[in-house]
Amino acid sequence: MRDNPLFDDRDIALLFDEVFDLPALTALPYFADHDRATFAAVIDAARRVARAALYPAYRALAEQPPRLVDGRVVVHPQLHPLFRQLRDLDLIAAPRPVEVGGQQLPLAVFTLATAYLMAANAGAYGYLGLTQGAAHLIEAFGDAHLRATYMPRMYRGEWTGTMALTEPQAGSSLADVATVATPTAAGHYLLRGAKIFISGGDHDLTDNVVHLALARIAGAPAGIKGVSLFCVPRRRVEGDALVDNDVAVTGVIHKIGWKALPSLALAFGERDDCRGWLVGEPHQGIRYMFQMMNEARIMVGMNGVATASVAYHEAVAYARERPQGRPLGAKDPAAPPVAITAHADVRRMLLRQRAIVVGGLALLVRTSRYADLAHHGGDGDAGLLLDLLTPIAKTFPAERGFEANALAVQIHGGYGYSSEYPVEAWLREQKLNSIHEGTTGIHALDLLGRRAVAGGGAALAAWSRAIDQTRARGAADATWAAELGAARDLVLALTRELAARGLGGDSEGMLAHATDYLDLFATVAIAWQWLELAAAVTDRDPAHRAVTRACAAYWFATELPRIHHLAALCRSAERSFVDLDPAWL
Ligand SMILES: Cc1cc2nc3c(=O)[nH]c(=O)nc-3n(C[C@H](O)[C@H](O)[C@H](O)COP(=O)(O)OP(=O)(O)OC[C@H]3O[C@@H](n4cnc5c(N)ncnc54)[C@H](O)[C@@H]3O)c2cc1C
Repeated sequence: MRDNPLFDDRDIALLFDEVFDLPALTALPYFADHDRATFAAVIDAARRVARAALYPAYRALAEQPPRLVDGRVVVHPQLHPLFRQLRDLDLIAAPRPVEVGGQQLPLAVFTLATAYLMAANAGAYGYLGLTQGAAHLIEAFGDAHLRATYMPRMYRGEWTGTMALTEPQAGSSLADVATVATPTAAGHYLLRGAKIFISGGDHDLTDNVVHLALARIAGAPAGIKGVSLFCVPRRRVEGDALVDNDVAVTGVIHKIGWKALPSLALAFGERDDCRGWLVGEPHQGIRYMFQMMNEARIMVGMNGVATASVAYHEAVAYARERPQGRPLGAKDPAAPPVAITAHADVRRMLLRQRAIVVGGLALLVRTSRYADLAHHGGDGDAGLLLDLLTPIAKTFPAERGFEANALAVQIHGGYGYSSEYPVEAWLREQKLNSIHEGTTGIHALDLLGRRAVAGGGAALAAWSRAIDQTRARGAADATWAAELGAARDLVLALTRELAARGLGGDSEGMLAHATDYLDLFATVAIAWQWLELAAAVTDRDPAHRAVTRACAAYWFATELPRIHHLAALCRSAERSFVDLDPAWL
């Protein structure tokens, strides 16, 4: 594989300094020990590991995925030194407080640093992301014993963590979790049940794997209100020893992407000796898990951006050197062929990819920054905006990133359809992002059915104010600013209409086109980013300014008008699939 920049550093710099002024976060007490240089150093260190070590190993890791050997998962030997390099970046605990071993780094900076790692190898990065989320759950809700025993080792990357939610009968519907936890007089619980798709659920990179697992305490109420959260180590701590905790690997999922990270079927308690420790209060498992899932959704959104970005850069390099055909109107058949970038249709595809990648990147940095402001003080609207934008930040890069990845294959022509070229691999990698951490359909229902209408539309009102700030900043681009204002008004009016339909008892009519509503909202949200980017880009680098403004022009002219069609579908509650009898299919 040729070298790949993974991201355009000019975009990262534009977002870091001009668009979001991340160094200004140091004005908040939580981030006060940092300065611009420390933020930049974190991003730079991750970028170097991503480019020099992680990306060059991508193909080797993909060709030899983890194997099950005598009941244990064995990873590619090359992953061992890579994991150590990743761990030495000290990113797992980076956003967490100093008292628990963190660096109090803004999530927005962390998100930019990890973007490079995900672009280099989403699966290999996955060990870190999962461990961070699992350790954070223990930090937030665990008792002193759990915090002392597991959290520091996980934050240091000596042990890794998982989120063990899914069961064969409980995927999107976690209310159907059936793993049972039986209390014992000793204070721990005995767990019994089957989990599936558990990423990083076993490996030989570290001495231990700590599962943050959902289970139902024996006799708990049915449904979501009876689900609790447990800490279930693969090996439990007994004195100075680590003792097998009866967590068996019953299968390795043969995935089509994310090959460096094993996803496993696990059995808890086949020998009735799987001990779990309750995290927090009984029956609060889903509420706690949402903390981790919301963080994980931002991570998945960034994965979508990163996977589209690495493919975009590959497509640009390929298109620049692939000679084929002659310009429209060329008369001389003996003239040498031109690089395919000379064809407007190829440039159309490249620009569309870039508009999705950089627009998505801006949305992810914005959402992460709202998380920083919401958690560490500053902006009163930030919490509302974080809640509203999270499903969009998760699903837009997954869905439209997949289109961008498909365009990278298309630009390669027949070569893209072969495994000799890397673009097909990223198309496979990207597909996961619309499935895990909640499918797109589930997020659409959540956005329209809950987040957009909660609190009398308080989050939408906050969003409307944020849009006006951008319109003021981008006032020089008067047409785009006006179009963004009209698009915002459409979202507000449409949401009111659909909410009224729901309040009137027609929740099916309200939610029938929830996925179109999500698409519409995301299209407006990305136009918002493009106005911001176009306003902020300086002319220090004329080519970068030109391509940034070309992306904005593309989004406003080509993508934004789609919202009228989508709104019409939502309004009419078009029923072709609603009324479809599955027996007809
Ligand atoms: C590679 C990989 C890694 C994973 N890693 C983990 C992990 O580390 N930990 C973990 O716990 N899980 C993990 N998962 C599981 C993942 O979170 C689930 O696959 C996901 O939640 C969907 O569940 P499901 O596969 O059972 O699909 P289903 O829930 O059966 O969904 C199938 C389809 O039906 C739709 N659907 C389902 N219910 C509804 C509804 N109520 N309304 C509308 N549409 C609906 C969905 O949108 C989807 O299109 C992983 C999955 C994969 C593939």
